[in-house]
Amino acid sequence: MAEPLVIPPDTVHLIRAKRDGQPLTAAQIGWLIEAYLGGEVADEQMSALLMAIYFNGLDTGELRAWTSAMIDSGERLDLAAAGRPTVDKHSTGGVGDKVSLILAPLVAACGAAVPQLSGRGLGHTGGTLDKLEAIPGWRALLSPAEMLAVLREVGCVICAAGPGLAPADRRLYALRDVTGTVESIPLIASSIMSKKIAEGTAALVLDVKVGSGAFMRAEADARLLAQTMVTIGAEEGVATSALLTRMDTPLGRAVGNAIEVEEAVATLRGEGPADLVAVTLALAREMLRLAGVDADPAAALADGRALAAYRAMITAQGGDPDAPLPVAAHTRKVLNAPASGWLRKLDAYAVGVAAWRLGAGRALKEHPVNPAAGVLCLAKPGEWVERGQPVLELRADDETRFARAADALTGAIEVGAGPPAASSPIIDRIDL
Ligand code: URA
Repeated sequence: MAEPLVIPPDTVHLIRAKRDGQPLTAAQIGWLIEAYLGGEVADEQMSALLMAIYFNGLDTGELRAWTSAMIDSGERLDLAAAGRPTVDKHSTGGVGDKVSLILAPLVAACGAAVPQLSGRGLGHTGGTLDKLEAIPGWRALLSPAEMLAVLREVGCVICAAGPGLAPADRRLYALRDVTGTVESIPLIASSIMSKKIAEGTAALVLDVKVGSGAFMRAEADARLLAQTMVTIGAEEGVATSALLTRMDTPLGRAVGNAIEVEEAVATLRGEGPADLVAVTLALAREMLRLAGVDADPAAALADGRALAAYRAMITAQGGDPDAPLPVAAHTRKVLNAPASGWLRKLDAYAVGVAAWRLGAGRALKEHPVNPAAGVLCLAKPGEWVERGQPVLELRADDETRFARAADALTGAIEVGAGPPAASSPIIDRIDL
């Protein structure tokens, strides 16, 4: 909580101070956030302050105060009723990133509890809730009591964050979105961490993606973001670590909502693509390590325990895990290999934009997504392709979307005489 102030600070004075590179005190930051939510600080004033932060950053003390003020703006969940050590994962977002659908039940099957409050997709990266909503009957909106009941019964739950969780972040994120102030490492780190800390998890693993399809394209930026979030977690008493993982090409072969659910279920049956399995198992090991649970996630994936937990989670949230998923009315094979050779590149960003234009993603928060639309990668980097062989299959309910989706794919592939250098999808682990 903010320290009590005798005289409320003058907002313009605080904006000027931050603009001129002077650090704000914890009391000033606490007051600013509380006063913004209370209507005493106007949107245009907060916009100016955010831009000053964008240029001048936040030092360690300011970052701690900013994050605490956002956590304190709402409720903090108590997950003691879960009855097991709690651990969550957050991904900074990527193309074909369906890891949560496999990871939450996998870690639950190993004995930890996974309370995953997730978001919807915006732009070229998909959202976990949009994917699961492709399953007939499945509900993302649960009351806190329902969420806790699923967590206790099944060991994992994936649902939407309620409006009471870090409401200051909700307001500030919407403002950042329209004022060109999203791309600030302290603002991103405090935004993500305030929600995860308010969720009440005891431990957290961050999957910070690096590459063309990621929020952070440069490894140095991703590393700094990871370090910043790990530090915030430790200061707030949440055991936190991060993996830096590659996002130059889609994860797995499916990009879209229903087709990503299909691929996640195939992975839970032991038939997953190697890159998706590698990232999921690395995150699972890290989560179990932080939760203090000694178990082998590869065994829980192989023997069907993770699949059983997934089916139980879907059923507990109103979904039918056996119901047929929506299938697109039209498909089109595109991106023919210009020569026979090794596929050396399949650009994640281009594929993400194509899937988005086919209807799998949304341009505005209010827009619906099409569950059946998406892109299937018929070949992945490191595989041999014959001249003329299509690399992608586009799927849409509306055929007129194919042309704009195909436009996004110009220059998306490279075929060469030698295979690309082998590289692990995991770049590094960051902890304190
Ligand atoms: N995701 C968030 O939750 N917050 C940000 O600021 C950026 C991405």
